[in-house]
Amino acid sequence: TTAVPLTLKSVLDEVLVFLVKEAQLKNIFIEIDVPDTLPQVVGNRGKLQQVLLNIVNNAFAAMPRDGRLSIKAEETDDAFVRLDISDSGCGISPENLKHIFEPFFSTKTNQGGTGLGLSITYGLVQEIGGRIKVESKVNEGTTFIVSLPTTTQKE
Ligand code: ADP
Ligand code: MG
Repeated sequence: TTAVPLTLKSVLDEVLVFLVKEAQLKNIFIEIDVPDTLPQVVGNRGKLQQVLLNIVNNAFAAMPRDGRLSIKAEETDDAFVRLDISDSGCGISPENLKHIFEPFFSTKTNQGGTGLGLSITYGLVQEIGGRIKVESKVNEGTTFIVSLPTTTQKE
């Protein structure tokens, strides 16, 4: 669980390998805007992969067909990289939005959902020293915003 400098783009590419097939089958358009010029982020490769995979898996589940997944990253003034992962899926009601990071909260219990993905994701982001928040509109889509510390971060 050592924290090392990671190139976000490379970690993202590793995760997307698992998702390209599903995206094709469901006709989901994937748009990636992660500049090569971003500073490296500090974290653990496996943890960061799991964070991204959990969020994108949920995004895919919210888009049965013909959706759009957008992943954008930019450097912030306070030496974080801000990653916006947006889908054009079903969205989350304000009532459910309050609970999504809680363990075992799931609206997919009859589709095999455990409700653990986002609570684990939340914990992993904390361990990396990052932050996570979410914005959503029912029938429009959802954006998870993950901020990750960069190598230029002061202790
Ligand atoms: P699970 O996927 O097993 O249900 P998660 O912890 O990954 O558990 O997510 C919890 C709940 O948050 C989901 O059941 C769903 O209701 C909601 N959710 C998470 N991401 C999205 C998304 N991108 N669009 C719509 N709903 C979402
Ligand atoms: Mg999930």
